[in-house]
Amino acid sequence: ALAKKEDVFLPRWVRVNTLLAQLDKIMAEFKKTHTQVQMLTDLSPPFADPARPPFYIDPHVPSLLAFPPATDFSQHPLYVNHTLILQDKASCFPAAILNPPPGEVCIDACAAPGNKTTHLAAVMEGKGTIFAFERDERRYGILSRRTKEAGADKVIETVLGDFTQVKPMDPKYKDVTHILLDPSCSGSGIVNRLDYLLDNKAAATEEEEAEEKVKDDERLASLADFQNTLVQHAMAFPKAGRITYSTCSIHAIENEHVVLRILASKVAKQRQWRVAKRAHCLPTWDSRSIPEEAGGDVDIAEGAVRCTPGKDGTIGFFVCLFERDDEASTGKK
Ligand code: SAM
Repeated sequence: ALAKKEDVFLPRWVRVNTLLAQLDKIMAEFKKTHTQVQMLTDLSPPFADPARPPFYIDPHVPSLLAFPPATDFSQHPLYVNHTLILQDKASCFPAAILNPPPGEVCIDACAAPGNKTTHLAAVMEGKGTIFAFERDERRYGILSRRTKEAGADKVIETVLGDFTQVKPMDPKYKDVTHILLDPSCSGSGIVNRLDYLLDNKAAATEEEEAEEKVKDDERLASLADFQNTLVQHAMAFPKAGRITYSTCSIHAIENEHVVLRILASKVAKQRQWRVAKRAHCLPTWDSRSIPEEAGGDVDIAEGAVRCTPGKDGTIGFFVCLFERDDEASTGKK
């Protein structure tokens, strides 16, 4: 069921761009002017000391902070100089879960505007290579600009083009080990969009609603086909051993159902891809995917994370980590 607007509590999440600044220094700065709190709920007004508003250090994603929802960072010097990046917590999960070591070669298959790409570069401590694909020219321009602004242009090689047209056997990509796949989706987990849907659903007549539903179902089915194609394409890269698949959708058809289709595919079977164990996929995050939607397979359900809009302060989101054995990925198996 869709979340009610009033249930949706979204703090202002801020990722410290560790390519441009040291986390300790930024936290020390905020501690001078703000009060550190231990609970997300303490970010709701009224504040104990309005002269020193609260801030929160996230326990799941390193270098992520949260501030009260109405906090305006647009003029903040650290935002203006790209040290602070406004990025919802759930949208930081894919790079945190993929967690490539410094020096690796990665792909971000659907990269613009580039929040997850620059996060990945920060996780890799600015060392290694990320091929970042984007097929939309306008959005590619934003990706290229943000890459430079974030100080990540030495690591990120942006490519204007369709990821599905890239040949996995191209020698250029022979060392790619990690792939972040965050394709276009219905966006149904994005809270502003939920507001929009809720408002419109309330206004729609029954007939209009039924018509909308057919269109929605068709659209979701075609998005799911496309998501499935993209992940299967990523699975063909010869040395790839880890892939995150993520959406900001709340619909199982784009999430668990896509995972099941992928696992049943020829490429997944031939190359021994599987859903990672919970231990490899943000084990301390309790909200996992839905077993009934994952064909009743508890391991698959436990292996992927879900975020419910407004619960735990995030938008609606889904991330699944696929992996295969090192031996398999180096061709020994
Ligand atoms: N990962 C991005 C971020 O966190 O900033 C958001 C990605 S958005 C959900 C999906 C993007 O993928 C869109 O910009 C879309 O134009 C692009 N895209 C969709 N299909 C693609 C394809 N086949 N190849 C390359 N880019 C694609």
